[in-house]
This record gives sequence, structure tokens and C-alpha cells, in this order.
Amino acid sequence: MTSHMNEGARIESSLDPADLQGFRHQAHRMLDDMIDYVATIRTRPVWQPLDASLREDFRRPSPRHPTPLADVYRDFASTILPYTVGNVHPGFMGWVHGGGTLEGMLAEMLAGALNANCGGRDHAPIELERQLTAWVCEWLGFPQTATGLFVTGTSMANFVALLVARHRALGANVRGAGVGAEGARLTAYASSAAHGCVPRAFEYAGLGRDALRAVAVDRDHRMDIDRLRDAITADRKAGRRPFLIVGTAGSVNTGAFDDLSAVAALAAEEGLWFHVDGAYGAFGVLCDEIAPRLAGIEQADSVALDFHKWGQVPYDAGFILIRDGALHRAAFATEAEYLTRATRGLAAGEHWPNDYGPDLSRGFRALKAWFTLRVHGTERLGAMIGHTCRVARHLAARIASEPELELLAPPSLNIVCFRYRHDDPDAHNARIVADLQLSGIAAPSTTRIDGRLAIRAAIFNHRTEFQDVERLVDAVLRLGRRA
Ligand SMILES: *Cc1c(COP(=O)(O)O)cnc(C)c1O
Repeated sequence: MTSHMNEGARIESSLDPADLQGFRHQAHRMLDDMIDYVATIRTRPVWQPLDASLREDFRRPSPRHPTPLADVYRDFASTILPYTVGNVHPGFMGWVHGGGTLEGMLAEMLAGALNANCGGRDHAPIELERQLTAWVCEWLGFPQTATGLFVTGTSMANFVALLVARHRALGANVRGAGVGAEGARLTAYASSAAHGCVPRAFEYAGLGRDALRAVAVDRDHRMDIDRLRDAITADRKAGRRPFLIVGTAGSVNTGAFDDLSAVAALAAEEGLWFHVDGAYGAFGVLCDEIAPRLAGIEQADSVALDFHKWGQVPYDAGFILIRDGALHRAAFATEAEYLTRATRGLAAGEHWPNDYGPDLSRGFRALKAWFTLRVHGTERLGAMIGHTCRVARHLAARIASEPELELLAPPSLNIVCFRYRHDDPDAHNARIVADLQLSGIAAPSTTRIDGRLAIRAAIFNHRTEFQDVERLVDAVLRLGRRA
């Protein structure tokens, strides 16, 4: 293959490198550098800010002339690589970010070479995505007739699920006529701890965020089922039309899991669509200690989850699973001449991924998920998830032993919310978190628990160990004692 590309008439317009040996050399160097980057990640700060002159570097005009690959790579190494968000680093504990895998990185390279368009047609990458869908069905106890789709993330997955639920409620007419007066009557329910992308999905779906009721949570930050029932009853009395309940499996603030069995029972009783936002929590089915908290997910009509959080697959790799495949297609499939299916040839295959969501052209996200799953296996991934929870428990125990610190929520799984005791606690703890991030030692984020500002450490990175959370607490104590 090499010699073939070097020989003969090289097409003038081709963008393939003329000097393949030089390219190969540079490519190997980049690969080695990235393996070293991950292997030595602890020697670097978690995060560091860009200074003004570096930012200026990103304001250059578009390049009219060629630049050697090695020079472009040098710019990457000096202006981009040191200044990323930091979630590969074991000291990164903010928000909900996975750490990535090296196998996933390689798969991204392989997928880049194939440059497969996974919107449709008859080829192996599409089969692989179906394979991944079958695996998710297996994990979640869904029938193999369910349909699934890789999307950017759970924000998009929740939106796709909402559009299918909306289609069920309003019928096929919604695609032509829009939501209309009947759509204006629809109401849905999620806990007040649900992720902010859920109300946003209602905005995009033309239902408006006011159609989504925020149901109060109990002491453990789980949706209060009695309040949920009351809200549905009140809406029916007022002439509204309840159609959907969104359960949360792993809330972003505290890691709470709604009682999915109870929600499923109520949804069935009321004839409502039952969707689960399992962005990170759904992967807990692979872990024996966590799986019981997901009981009831097998009864959901749809589940949104992310491979890029607890699943550690590199960004981005969100996923939506819909129980009723026919309804899933009914909500999205279109008939365009250029998308006509054939019985033979490249245009074969009855159902294509573009029948299941808004995207037509799509990359090959399934490959990095497949590599990560094949190389490690579900048992090891489940054990890794259990380990992140043990690291969080270690952190919570250390906090409980420090009189200057207090826990702000019962530690649930892998998320610990705490603060440094102080006269002006909100401002002081916000300062501590910013100082910590700037120090490069650790990067937790902040949130509010019952109105109080909390330092939030979420252990999602498979690389984070006891020593990393010890360093976090040491640094919080040091910074907290200042002023
Ligand atoms: C992260 C998260 C989301 C959003 O998912 P993205 O992949 O960031 O789009 C939604 N819900 C929950 C519970 C999350 O943790």
C-alpha cells in the first residue's frame, strides 16, 4: 500500500502527503507523545489558565498557505495540550467528566482513517453500532427489539427521547402540523434535582419549559413519589394532559437515584411515557454494588446514557435507547429520494441510523466504545466504577474526621459535597475552589445544596486514587485557613 501511494502519478489535487516516510515518522512521534502524555499525567497541573498572549495566538487569520505538519503539531503541543480542561488528570473532580481510555484514543484514530459516515447505508460500522445497541439492551434488561443510537451526549439523548414521547402523545400529525393546541396541554414531570438539559429539551421541542413540572425531592434527594402523584392529579383536574415522567438515575448534584420501580409503576398506572436520564448512573448496572439502585430501569420506555462519563470512553459518546423501535422510527424517519433504500448494494438495509435521530451525517462513535468494552470487559469496568465509589467514601471519611470541614449531603456513590466551616461560608468556599483550580493540584467544582455553596468532588476518573483525594483535602485545609 505504501509503495503504491508513492509511485506513479500523484493526483495534483490530492491532500495525501507527498513524503509518506516523513509523514509516518511524524505520526509515530505524535502517537508516542500522546501515550506518554497520559502515562505521565500526574506530573502536570490538572489545569492552568491561558494567559493573554496565548489567547492572542488564537486570533490569527485563516492560513492561506501550507504549514509543515511538524510545525502545526509543535503549536498544538505548546498552545493547546497544556491548557485543556484537565479531565484526563486524576486530580480532576469537577462536574461529571470521564477520564478517557488509551484504547478509545486509538479507536478515534482508526475511525478517522475509515472516515465512515454512519448516517446510513450497508457497512460494518453500522452493524457495530447495532451490536453496541444489543449490548446496552442486555445490560438494562431491554428486549432486543429496542433501538439505539449514538449521539453527542445525554443532552441530545434526552431530547431525542422527548421527541419520541411527544410523537406518542400527539400522533404522527405533530410532524406536519406542529404541537398545536393539544401540545400546549401536555405536561411532564421530573425531580427538582433533574439535569438542566431536561427543561431545555422542552424548549427545543416546542412544548416550553413550563410544561415540565419540578417535583420536590425527599431527604435523600430522590423524587418524592407522593408529590409526583399529586402533581399529575392536579394537572388532570386543571384540564392538562400529563404524558411523560423523567426519572433520574444519578443526579448531577449529589448522585441520587430516583426510585425507578415506583416511578415505573406510577407511569404504568397513569399511562405515561417513562424516560430515565441515566447519563452516568445507568453504567452502574455493570457494578454489583450499584445495580440494585437501578431496579426498575428495565421497565422504562427510553433511557439516555453517556459512554463518556463512568464508561470512560473518550468524548463524545452519548446514547439513546428506545423500547419501541417502530415508534422511534415514526418520530424521525423521512422519505427523501436520495435516501431511498435498495434490496442490494450499498443502499441496502431497511433501517438506517438517520431514521432514529436528527443527524444525517454521523461519525463512527461506536468504535471507541467497542474498543474500550472489548479490551477491558464489562466486569472490569464494573469493578472500576465500584472503585470510584470507594475513593469517594475514603474522601467522605477523611472530611468527617476534619473538624474544620463539614459534609453537606450524605455521600452517595461517587459524589461528595462538603465545605470549609467559616463565618462567610459561601464566599470563602467559592474562593477555595478557584484557588484550588488555579493551583493545579485538584479541580473540584461548586454546587448548591439546600441553598448552601458546596465544594463538589465527583470521582468519575478511573485514575483517581486515595492519594488524590487526600491531596485535595490537604489543599482545602491549607487554603481554607488563609484569611
Ligand atoms: C452529564 C449529564 C447530563 C448531560 O449530558 P451531556 O453528555 O453532558 O450532554 C444529563 N443528565 C445528567 C444526570 C448528567 O450527569
